[in-house]
Amino acid sequence: MRKKKRKTPTVTGDAPIAIVEYWKAKAVVFDFDGTLTKRGSTRTTWEAIWESLGYDVNECGLLAKRFLEGQITHSEWCNLTLEKFKAKNLSLDGVISVARSIELIQDFDQCMEEIQRLGVPTYIVSGSIWDVISTVLGDRAQYFKRIEANNFGYTNNNMLGTITGTRFDFEGKGEFVKELAKELRVLVSDILFVGNDINDVYVKAAGARTLLVNPQFTWPDQKAWDKYIPKMLSLVEILPFVDSTWEERQRARILGERERARKALTDLDELRLAKMSVHGNYRRFSNEDRANLVGLADRIRGALVTKSLTRENFLIYASPGSGKTFFVEELARTLADTITFVPIDLSRDSQAVCEERLAEVAASKRPCLCMIDEVDGRKGEEWPYDVIYKKLDLNEARGRESVVFVLIGSSGGTVTKLSETIRSRYKGKDMIDRILQSGQHWAQIPPMGMGDTVCVYASKILEAAEAVQKTIREVEKFAAYHAVLTCRTPRQVKLLADQAVMRIPAGHTQVYYDHHFGPGDNTNKVFRDQHSDVALALGKQTFRISK
Ligand SMILES: [Mg+2]
Repeated sequence: MRKKKRKTPTVTGDAPIAIVEYWKAKAVVFDFDGTLTKRGSTRTTWEAIWESLGYDVNECGLLAKRFLEGQITHSEWCNLTLEKFKAKNLSLDGVISVARSIELIQDFDQCMEEIQRLGVPTYIVSGSIWDVISTVLGDRAQYFKRIEANNFGYTNNNMLGTITGTRFDFEGKGEFVKELAKELRVLVSDILFVGNDINDVYVKAAGARTLLVNPQFTWPDQKAWDKYIPKMLSLVEILPFVDSTWEERQRARILGERERARKALTDLDELRLAKMSVHGNYRRFSNEDRANLVGLADRIRGALVTKSLTRENFLIYASPGSGKTFFVEELARTLADTITFVPIDLSRDSQAVCEERLAEVAASKRPCLCMIDEVDGRKGEEWPYDVIYKKLDLNEARGRESVVFVLIGSSGGTVTKLSETIRSRYKGKDMIDRILQSGQHWAQIPPMGMGDTVCVYASKILEAAEAVQKTIREVEKFAAYHAVLTCRTPRQVKLLADQAVMRIPAGHTQVYYDHHFGPGDNTNKVFRDQHSDVALALGKQTFRISK
């Protein structure tokens, strides 16, 4: 019997004339310069360095031309460049300052996170310079399994000493995808390559699927490129080429969101924020989420109030956007006079700051709550866990007040995955072994639902009203629906609420959908038309809001 295939060519004679194609990449390989970086400048990193040293930018281009015409080899090209750079005393600082002027393309994180969720590994194979890429990416280098580029070596006083050319530029980019396919045990044709320039045109001949974006010295001819985005503004535009069902799933997700928002509002008559409080101003709409988080807060509080002689440390995975920092901050605020609160943010604080804060923890005369926020941050560095882990034993000491650490992060998707990420790092095992693996000490903060965003909206409306001494009692349901579907962050909700409250005439106590818009703003009508079914279903209904 013949197997059913997902690809179903319609055949006339022998020639397939149409293919319904389902395709998902098994790896994505990116070029860097001009592909992952912002448009606007047509200069490459190399040209920027030549220029920064006071050379005519054409000198760089002329060397490139000699290489492309086969007059010099890649390593001769590197050596000639090296002599020029050395003559003008190029230093590491000079390279870094050129890198600082390079910006990543819009929505870089959003796209990379989505590709990670798809479980597709990503790589960079670039004709640029390793130090430049690493400076531009910073922590974001963690998105990539491997980064290949040219390497600069420096002398003891940080002056340029050597240029080691990458073997993975030009034809070498093709070699890279072939080697990668072998390593991953996939077909070369399962790999998507995304590039923009003349040095990227050899990848298709190697067998990979190629996507041309924002072209520079290359054109979308069939020999080099399969697909083409002439003007890419946002990196998420490549996602349909990574997974052909992406757009369809996106549409389904948006429809689901609309439906959940409508449901959350249909039965809502009154929203008393105090009833939603987990502690202080940290609120959750769902009874179940709230009960779980009150339980978690109780356990942390209990460990602070009652001194034990064992470690009382917590590991919390928080869904992105669930307000993890605020959860711990509000818990600390409600205990203000009785404890010392020491917040550390690993993605922000330097080693010196971190050590200073940990010294505060050790010196505290009151029960101490120390939050290690973004505990999975600073991936490439060795100091963080080395500096922290021994302090996790402080609660074991007799004769001192409680010391409770809350380690909190948003990567991995579950608390178990978060623990594995930490464990895999330098001294990570020492960290994780100091947190009891139990339902008591490992926890998760669930993602925000539509109801939670309604709470944020209601609280921002009440805050804005208080600030301008207005009294607001009711909100039109369709206004709340608009807020939760269009605002992505609490900051955007606040902006919308502030403006709406300003537009409400003195003495009026209701917020209407129309208050979200200035006069003549046609997005008002556009949104109402797009959601006319919901507008009809919710009608003129309102719900009461109060603190
Ligand atoms: Mg490029």
